[in-house]
Amino acid sequence: MMHRDIIIIGGGAAGLFAAARAVGKGKTVTVLERMERCGRKIGITAKGRCNLTNTRPWEEFSRHVHPQNTFFKNAFFCWDNIKTMDFFESIGLALTVERGARVFPRSMNARDVTDSLVSYILGKGGEILTGCRVESVLKKETGDFEILAEGRPHPFASADIVLLATGGLSYPATGSTGDGYRIARELGHDVTRCFPSLTALRPAVYGKEYEGISLKNVEVELYVGGRSVATEFGDLDFTSGGIEGPIGLRVSRKAVEALINGEKTELVLDLKPALSLEKLKERIRRELAAEASSGEKGPRLKYLLSLLMPRALILPFMRTHPDLTADDLPAALKQWRFPIESYVGYERAVVTAGGISLKDVSRKSMESKLVKGLYFAGEILDLDGDTGGYNLQIAFSTASLAVEHALTL
Ligand SMILES: Cc1cc2nc3c(=O)[nH]c(=O)nc-3n(C[C@H](O)[C@H](O)[C@H](O)COP(=O)(O)OP(=O)(O)OC[C@H]3O[C@@H](n4cnc5c(N)ncnc54)[C@H](O)[C@@H]3O)c2cc1C
Repeated sequence: MMHRDIIIIGGGAAGLFAAARAVGKGKTVTVLERMERCGRKIGITAKGRCNLTNTRPWEEFSRHVHPQNTFFKNAFFCWDNIKTMDFFESIGLALTVERGARVFPRSMNARDVTDSLVSYILGKGGEILTGCRVESVLKKETGDFEILAEGRPHPFASADIVLLATGGLSYPATGSTGDGYRIARELGHDVTRCFPSLTALRPAVYGKEYEGISLKNVEVELYVGGRSVATEFGDLDFTSGGIEGPIGLRVSRKAVEALINGEKTELVLDLKPALSLEKLKERIRRELAAEASSGEKGPRLKYLLSLLMPRALILPFMRTHPDLTADDLPAALKQWRFPIESYVGYERAVVTAGGISLKDVSRKSMESKLVKGLYFAGEILDLDGDTGGYNLQIAFSTASLAVEHALTL
């Protein structure tokens, strides 16, 4: 049976980053990854481009971390977004910052992120075993951990320190199927209710005619039980799954939670947020007057809509407003209501909300409060971020804090 100082379970963003921070410091470090290759999920981030962090300072960054950004504060100050950028640059990955303070590899190739981490780990004497699915972790009376892995001799390995970085439940094809929750439960930890977040919201009335439409600079307001709980401004996409795109995803966490709780959930879309209702009425009056003086004939409403929204949106808009008149138009444009009936599940959700209960984990070290020497990092924790590079930074910061603490033991 092999023995290592540190065994990291999961070769995703958090596991690889933890290994990269742990190697070269006189400890034996091994990553166990169930898939044939590490970083399968990193490979699909930001449509294959990998938005690996966000440059915003803590005051702004923290607003994008849920459900308890205070838990994340120590990890962020141990290893913040600037350190992440400096580290990747130092290992040869050139970066670029785009709109919204989002950081990408300059190559715009997510694989380069994984490859740079893997090369660094191996170059510093770390070890990565792929195709190795961990089944259980046992804490021995000696203080060591014993690791049991599928299809390997039992026990397969032992370690002084174990870091559980098996991710959440989203995109299970990348390897994250929730094994870590079971392993942690067996060791006595609570796992909070998990649900898909950053996912498409499915309106009660929806159809193919919406698919592929993208809207720029619109506002969406989320109502739960008749109460406004979130407002977001930006771009929105209608896809085969429902309403998503940057602002759709941003309200999805609260919307999915509300749907799971059985609460009435509704999105109200303002297609003209830059204009007040009065200004919009004025504009429509002007357009109608211009049309009348031009002497052009044709259905006035359709003509107006063609001036006010993308052509592809006219049909779905008219279907959901069958009795619309030019007088009702301003209010309809500013308050297009979408009762939401469901959401797209883990198969296409960007992140898992919920996870290892934060009450069982020390915020100062990411060490379990129940099992000495056991650490957690990344999406397995009951921590998740908005889109924009926040989730990967959560993985990097929690991994770094865990390793920094573990190396002092
Ligand atoms: C489509 C998509 C796009 C995204 N885009 C972005 C983005 O641009 N920016 C951003 O910040 N975040 C993004 N995210 C979220 C981000 O990728 C995750 O939050 C992050 O990868 C979590 O890192 P992790 O290491 O905790 O989990 P993962 O990256 O999921 O890694 C967990 C690893 O553990 C392995 N594993 C699981 N069980 C076992 C086991 N029993 N034994 C051994 N190994 C095991 C898995 O195979 C996997 O490799 C995106 C997610 C998706 C799905």
